This record gives sequence, C-alpha cells and structure tokens, in this order.
Amino acid sequence: VAQTYDVIAERDEKIGAFLALNKDQALAQAKELDQVGIAADQVLAGIPVGIKDNIVTRDLTTTAASKILENFNPIYNATVMDKLAAAKMITVGKLNMDEFAMGGSTETSAFKLTKNAWDQTKVPGGSSGGSAAAVASGQVIAALGSDTGGSIRQPAAYNGIVGMKPTYGRVSRYGLIAFASSLDQIGPLTRTVKDNALMLNAISGADQHDFTSSRRPVPDFTSGIDAGVKGMRIAVPKEYMGDGIAPEVKDAIKQAIKTYEELGAIVEEVSLPYSKYGVAVYYIIASSEASSNLQRFDGIRYGFRAQDVKNLEDVYVRSRSEGFGDEVKRRIMLGTFSLSAGTYDKFFKKAAQVRTLICRDFDRVFADYDLILAPTAPTVAYGIGEEIDDPVTMYMNDILTIPVNLAGLPGMSLPAGFANGLPIGMQLIAPQFAEQTIYQAGYAFE
Ligand code: GLN
Repeated sequence: VAQTYDVIAERDEKIGAFLALNKDQALAQAKELDQVGIAADQVLAGIPVGIKDNIVTRDLTTTAASKILENFNPIYNATVMDKLAAAKMITVGKLNMDEFAMGGSTETSAFKLTKNAWDQTKVPGGSSGGSAAAVASGQVIAALGSDTGGSIRQPAAYNGIVGMKPTYGRVSRYGLIAFASSLDQIGPLTRTVKDNALMLNAISGADQHDFTSSRRPVPDFTSGIDAGVKGMRIAVPKEYMGDGIAPEVKDAIKQAIKTYEELGAIVEEVSLPYSKYGVAVYYIIASSEASSNLQRFDGIRYGFRAQDVKNLEDVYVRSRSEGFGDEVKRRIMLGTFSLSAGTYDKFFKKAAQVRTLICRDFDRVFADYDLILAPTAPTVAYGIGEEIDDPVTMYMNDILTIPVNLAGLPGMSLPAGFANGLPIGMQLIAPQFAEQTIYQAGYAFE
C-alpha cells in the first residue's frame, strides 16, 4: 500500500486519475493486516483498489465530480464498500469521472482532466475514465466503476484493460449516487480477466438495502474459467460491424473472430435490428430518470450551497445553477421535458416500448447462441477537447454499449489489439446472469 502511494505520487501528475486519497486510513489498515495476517481464502486481502467517485465512502470525500457535492463527506458506505472491506481490500482513493457519470470522456468533471494511460493527448474515455486510467497506468491493480450506458466498458477499451458491467441486479446499487436507476450497475476494472472475476465475486449478491438486487445465488466466477470455448456458439451482430465503425476496429474484431474459431468456437453473423434506436431510447430514459434522481441536490441537504441568497427558492435555483455543469443541466432539461404532460406519451412511453423491442432482439439471439461478440466502441480514444462541444457525436460513441444496459445484460470489454499505439476493445455480451460464460470466453482469448 505504501508503494502504491509512491507510484501515485510519481505517475498521477501525468494521468490525473485521483480526486482524493485515503492515505492515513489505508496505511493503518495495511499495517493492521500485516499484524493479524491473511487467511488462505482471503485472496483479495491487502490489495489496493481505487473507487469511482460516485460510490459513497464513509468519511472519504465523495463528489461524483460535481461542484454541487464539493467536500461532501458521506456518513455511510455503499454496500460494495462494505463488501470490499470484508474482503480486506484497501481503498487507496477516489477516482475522477464525468460529472454524475454523464459523459464519455471524463471531460465533464468539474475538477480535473484525466488523460489516457497510453497517450496523454487523448481522452481516457468515460464516465469511469479515472478508474480505467488508474488501472492502465499501473497505479492500482483494480478499480470500481459504474456503467449506465457504457461507462465501464468504453474507458476499459480506450485504456486497454478489462471492464465488466454485470447483469442488472447482480451488484447492489445502494450507495451508488443514482444517475439512471433502471440502467446503473457497479462493476470492476482490472488488468486481467481472472482478476475481474475475483473482484465480481467480492461485490455481488442480494442486499436488503437495494430491492432491485437479485436473490439469485452468486457462483464463483473463476470456476470453469479455464474450460475453453470449444463448441461455444458466438454471434456477431451485423449492425455492430457496419458503417461508422473504424476500419482498424473492424479488423481487430475480425481477428478475434478468427482466434475464437481456431479455439473451437462456432461464430456466426446475426441481426439486432432495433439496436439502432438504442441511443435515442437511452437519452430519453436515462435523462428522465436523472431529472428525477437529481432533485435531491437542492443546496440544503448535501455539499455546495450558493452564497448571499434572498429566500428559499433562491437557495434552490442558485445552488443548482451554480453547482451543476452544462451536461448535467442539459440532461435535467431533456428529462423533465420527456416526462411532462403532453410529451410523456410521445417520448418517455415510446422509448419504454422500443426498449422492450431491443430486449426481444437479444432474447431471440440468445435462444441460439451463448455469447455476442462486438466492438466496444466505434473508434479508439480521440483527442482531448475534440468532441466535448458536440454532444450528439459524443452520444453516438456509446451506440455499441447502450443496448446492453437497456436489456440489463452483462457485458465485458477486453483488449483486442492496437492501432496507432492506442488500444482497441472488444465486447462480450451474455444472457442475464451468465457472467461466467463471458469470463470463460475472455480468459480463453486473453
Ligand atoms: N456516455 C453515456 C452518457 O453520457 C453513458 C454514461 C454512463 O454509462 N454512465 O450517459
């Protein structure tokens, strides 16, 4: 743990992944562990981990990278934090992200810019950009992120690491600062597939504080991980390999298909015709849920409060006006509009209906296949500042990851090659609660 802080001191000036460090507490915990020792089954004990800053940590600043939560110190832990503590993992600090996880490049953070671990002129992706860059630059062995429309998988792809968005309900969302409650999931970012499975073991399971967490038994995600892919049926959706996907990304996926065939899998092309509406559906549903979830930031209960206010309404209006960034305001307006009387049927209800069609597309494919293979993102990491002023282009970057959240499926990104010195990610998608199949196929490829 002490070494981890040395590495952070040396590297994070260049990368900018951390928003807060937990040094005194982490070193004390490590010392205690040295004294009491580690049992043979405590495979994660003593391992330093970084946490995305929208996961609440008791007595450790949690801001969701928003000015409205500046210096906010939670009085309780997210369930995943209690679980990591039970596994004796050591939280070394909190990681930068897009404000309230709204974004795909970590550039909407109110506090700092994070750089891609491979090329500091490029974005680290987002919204879990700090988590991905911290792992990829060797500052921590593992990190937690959150994924509402691609925020674990896309930065994992841009930084050449492994990132898993588990099945909706696999991991408790208690203590995850809510963005879009029907889509959000916490998941691990790691350098290897097996590390990822170990981390998911530690954080999964039913939680009485989150009624959307599943009661299904949690398997050991490492068991059978080395069973290979012989006879496994893998589907490649043609819509995920169409125009708009960069040639070097397509090449890497074609190469991966070849590798899987050589390993004995059966790979075939399928169609997911409704996926093309995923981005449109997502921005209505996610913004609507966000507009509701973000009502609680009123200048009274948490963090930032505007100064020199005239009356109560002024507290609300000015605190929110000054505390939220542009992207967050854009989503609140979009969501409030979609939910208003007169537009609800045309927008929110319609989006919910199309969401069902997207789910059915996946059901149809999974009747015949074990897994779906696709690129994670249409391109490799782009330059800092290049897309931030163009929200729609930015939104389209998530076209390959969003349908997975809409359907509540598990999806994992893992490294599949390089182009011009930048990593390319590929995505493995499975039926609900079949994370083990993903790990098995990922491990065989790695
Ligand atoms: N980039 C998407 C958005 O801006 C997804 C973010 C996420 O998964 N948290 O909403």
